[in-house]
Amino acid sequence: MPRLPIPPDLEWREDGTPVARGHDDVYFSASDGLAEARAVFLAGCGLPERWKGQERFTIAETGFGTGLNFLAAWDAWRAFGAEGWLEFVSFEAHPMRAEDAMRALSAWPELEALSGLLLARWPHSAKGVRRLVWPKHRIGLTLHIGDVRETLPDAVFAADAWFLDGFSPAKNEAMWGDGIYPEIAKRSATGAQVGTFTVAGHVRRGLASAGFAVAKAPGFGKKRERLEATLETAAPAVADRYAVGPAARRARKVAIIGGGIAGAGAARALIQGGAEVTVFERAPELASGASGNAMALVMPRLDAGDTVQARLLIDAYVLARDAYWGLNGVTETSVWQMPRDDRERDRFAKVLADPPLPLEDLEALSSGGCLHKRAVIVRPPLLVPALFSGARIRRGIDAVYDLPSCEVNGEPFDAIVLASGMALNGAAPWLSLEPRLGQVEYADGLSPRAPSAQAAGHYALADGSARLWGATFEAHEGDEAVVSAAARAANAEALRGLSPAWMGEALGADVTSRAGVRATTPDRLPLIGALPDVAAARQVFDGVRTGRKVEADAPRVEGVYVAGGFGARGFTWAPWAGEILAAQILGGPAPAPVSALEAISPMRLILRRLKRGEALPGSSPPTQPV
Ligand code: SAM
Repeated sequence: MPRLPIPPDLEWREDGTPVARGHDDVYFSASDGLAEARAVFLAGCGLPERWKGQERFTIAETGFGTGLNFLAAWDAWRAFGAEGWLEFVSFEAHPMRAEDAMRALSAWPELEALSGLLLARWPHSAKGVRRLVWPKHRIGLTLHIGDVRETLPDAVFAADAWFLDGFSPAKNEAMWGDGIYPEIAKRSATGAQVGTFTVAGHVRRGLASAGFAVAKAPGFGKKRERLEATLETAAPAVADRYAVGPAARRARKVAIIGGGIAGAGAARALIQGGAEVTVFERAPELASGASGNAMALVMPRLDAGDTVQARLLIDAYVLARDAYWGLNGVTETSVWQMPRDDRERDRFAKVLADPPLPLEDLEALSSGGCLHKRAVIVRPPLLVPALFSGARIRRGIDAVYDLPSCEVNGEPFDAIVLASGMALNGAAPWLSLEPRLGQVEYADGLSPRAPSAQAAGHYALADGSARLWGATFEAHEGDEAVVSAAARAANAEALRGLSPAWMGEALGADVTSRAGVRATTPDRLPLIGALPDVAAARQVFDGVRTGRKVEADAPRVEGVYVAGGFGARGFTWAPWAGEILAAQILGGPAPAPVSALEAISPMRLILRRLKRGEALPGSSPPTQPV
């Protein structure tokens, strides 16, 4: 299987109906597809009536296609005037190109306003999970791209309604095989309802054996019958060993400790999701620590294999790009990336032979490098405050927090997000974040240049009259950031290799050095998720030390979350981290697969150390009989 999903091979009927040649089936009929969506899926799931009084409602769909069902739900949601929040989770193996979706959706002028909003941000086609929100409409879309047999078992959400729409079962065994029904049941909330156009015997039996009461209903149009099903017997709960599921209680009032990019990413996602956010920043200004450089580069890190880590790096990058789009201090750029050594040259060759991103994003350079298109230069002093907009900001005061009682400076909150860089070690020493010193050089007032970026370990950025180059990434002691002449010389040396074209001018200008301490983790993946109660976890998972797989929920410090360990990629991780935390805190669908959530969970550090028989700082060992 290639890493990039294969777009559908489409044929268009005269009336405008799209047909997928691969499956020899229609997406919907152009004459009455919208009416069918309303009758089979919305009414079939008891909507809109079931929205009444709901604070949050989740619809899941198999087969996103053109997004017509999503738009039909959105349109009905808007017309219903519901007060709450609608989440739509969908699965798609062959994402349509935006222009094809536009052509298909043009059959419904009445949906034009909403289809315009969707098409303007048409989800990127890379394998992984896309997350888009329209906060004014109180609606979120979580789209899992990949084969549903792989992506559904790895998804985290609880649906109140299911639209089963994966072509005709006779023509698409993959969507309707026996394995899918238990996965649907596991992701169904109490009383979940299913709507579908098919009454195929194996679909009815599959749903019934997974705990649904199944009934036939009069079909739409020429079809005699359709199916409705309601969950009667809930699937057994699965242990949440990494504390990646949503919180036991939904939060409204959230404190964020830290006014850097990690806090900003969390603030933005939480505010968009309807939370009331207060930010506590010790310094007199926001983004005054490691996130405070004059410019920063957001570019992808591409791994050679199609692994969990490779996919989450792409998910985070795509989400950051989308989240920043149109905000203050954000400029699109191309990045010319050259391999640093032979190993990297090999990696680039592998990546380019089976690219995870399409040609609009990634091209091979004849020199053996990668050209990243549509990457982003950000200006943190403008962007970070923009991300915090809508939050209450408490600057220049120390946040004294009591985690077990979820209080900051005596004020109670429903949840606390710890996003304080290296200071996270103070709250939870076992996180063992390591400081790295990163220094960059900045000059302004130079001859204007179009945005551009060069990278090879170090990077050099030009945007208008400004230039920035660096960065160092040195082992460091303590929290104090100190600039050094040695780092400036190392950065100048790197610039010589990166951008001889503007080096002379930049080095001759008035150059300012700036250093920041970057909190890093040993596995170079960030820490995003619920804070486990380390002492309790140590007890519950003690068996792990002797090789047992303990099936239990990870004990949490209720209401407390972590966003940190972002290393040198803070601006890439932060928006994705924010969406993940917002889902956990506000109780929405996770915008990442379980495998990724586990790979970034703080709990991984505890399980890993127990497995290796290592000590956990800050946890007392189980009491020994004296
Ligand atoms: N609900 C869609 C709409 O509103 O336009 C129409 C869905 S169309 C009937 C079925 C969709 O299922 C197609 O987009 C197809 O690419 C997708 N699909 C087919 N097999 C799949 C699989 N194994 N995993 C995920 N998606 C699949």
